[in-house]
Amino acid sequence: MSARESSRRKQTPLGKQGRRPQLDEQRQTEDALRESEDHYRHSMELSPQVPWTADPQGNILDFSSRWLELTGHSREEALSQGWASAPHPDDFPRMARAWTHSVNSGEAYDIEHRVRTASGEYRWMQSRAYPRRDAAGHILRWYGTTENIEVRRQAEMAQHESDVRYRTLLERIQQGFCIFEMIYTEAGEAYDYRFLEVNATFERHSGLLGAPGKTVLELVPGLEQHWIDTYARVAQTGQPFHFEQGSEAMGRWFEVDAVRVGGAGSKKVALLFTDVTERKRNEAELRESERRYRALAEAQKRFVNDAAHELRAPLTAIQGNLELLERYSVNEGDRKEMLSDIHREAARLGRMVSDLLTLARGDVSPGLRVSSLKLDRILESVFRDLERRSKQHHFSLETLTPVQLEGDGDRLRQLAFIVLENAVKYTPSGGNITLKLTTAAGLARFEVKDSGPGLSSEHLDLVFERFYRVDSARSRGEDPGGTGLGLSIARQIVEAHGGRVWLESELGEGTVAVVELPIETLEDGL
Ligand code: ADP
Repeated sequence: MSARESSRRKQTPLGKQGRRPQLDEQRQTEDALRESEDHYRHSMELSPQVPWTADPQGNILDFSSRWLELTGHSREEALSQGWASAPHPDDFPRMARAWTHSVNSGEAYDIEHRVRTASGEYRWMQSRAYPRRDAAGHILRWYGTTENIEVRRQAEMAQHESDVRYRTLLERIQQGFCIFEMIYTEAGEAYDYRFLEVNATFERHSGLLGAPGKTVLELVPGLEQHWIDTYARVAQTGQPFHFEQGSEAMGRWFEVDAVRVGGAGSKKVALLFTDVTERKRNEAELRESERRYRALAEAQKRFVNDAAHELRAPLTAIQGNLELLERYSVNEGDRKEMLSDIHREAARLGRMVSDLLTLARGDVSPGLRVSSLKLDRILESVFRDLERRSKQHHFSLETLTPVQLEGDGDRLRQLAFIVLENAVKYTPSGGNITLKLTTAAGLARFEVKDSGPGLSSEHLDLVFERFYRVDSARSRGEDPGGTGLGLSIARQIVEAHGGRVWLESELGEGTVAVVELPIETLEDGL
């Protein structure tokens, strides 16, 4: 009904039948009702919404003229086609069902749907209706509105789309993502943070399960305070921060981008992060292997230098003597001495070359030909052998515990020979040489003790270096013809068996060479 109709109705008042007081009363009531209807009609026309009413059976009685403006229908069209022609055909069945339900149940009607507008475009509307009831609860009328919600709906859709884009992005990215809120003490110091949101890869990168709603200290009780300080600073300053940092408590390294979410005063921080533990480990391994390689290359160079130097000494002696013999006529005594020098030096050269080859073979292939063997038998046989050859020394076997172990028999024999021969070489005639073999804590331990000159502490480690010889041994003029390679070979053999070797000594106190070898079955490939 239009405003015009409503004012016409007002000009033709109802109930002129009587003048009796109750009729007057009735008339007054009717006037008041008309007045209120008029008032309703005016506000209906002014409202940006489209108000409408329906009878208890759900038939539309009345709607504001805005409906006509909105749909472009004439009043006749609107009334003849009914409200059913304006909604989008896809929405209409849903609306009809909901309306029928409301009319039958008396429940409020509330539905979003599209309506074809005068321009031919569809716009989103929200239609709502509530029933007015009499004292007995019977529905008198439905009061409804239809409101244009296109703008809201567009905004919602845009928001939804952006939410979907945001979520899709977060779920797709390989990095871990989370948003958390800093937690402060009353004094304003950050001491923890609570996870609000995480993406799918968060767990893989952080190793933290079920983070949302929990605080980081609940998840990682020992977390280093500097993480919390860092994020508190990001929240406070709003300055994004990129860094790489390891956490011992989490056992991981992370590369992190931290940004504040929201403006000044926000306690929320978002992180994009990656677990870089493996990369860090690889980098460290690479650095370590580079360092080892450089050390090895350095050692190699030094070794070649030393070897050349050491080989030159006997060669020079041989050449010098040969030249003398060639150029000058020397008496028989000198000739014999020179020839014996040449022999001795040539023999030394030979030993050196063979020691060098032994070392080189051990370097190239530290692999052992392992079999189960009796260490006590090997030591005893080398010991007896040297005892037979060096009559000037007293040999004694102190303890010889039977020891069965996995090892390379040839190389262990070589090891025993080196340490026992050193004892003989460096101990003056009349001295004592003692052998002892015991076991303890999964180790076989043998000691070769001599009563020789001993070594001062600064030499104890150095004698295991290749070519290293203590000068006094040479300078005494009674050079026993060593190559300085024996103990290097000994150490190489012991280490290939997973054991340790060292000297215990003091100047003037004799020397003990100690070897420890594991008795457990050796792993393949050693
Ligand atoms: P080599 O005996 O051929 O010189 P080694 O590597 O076996 O080479 O020994 C290195 C040096 O350690 C020897 O030159 C010697 O000075 C010292 N040394 C080794 N064993 C003993 C020992 N039992 N007593 C004193 N000095 C020793």
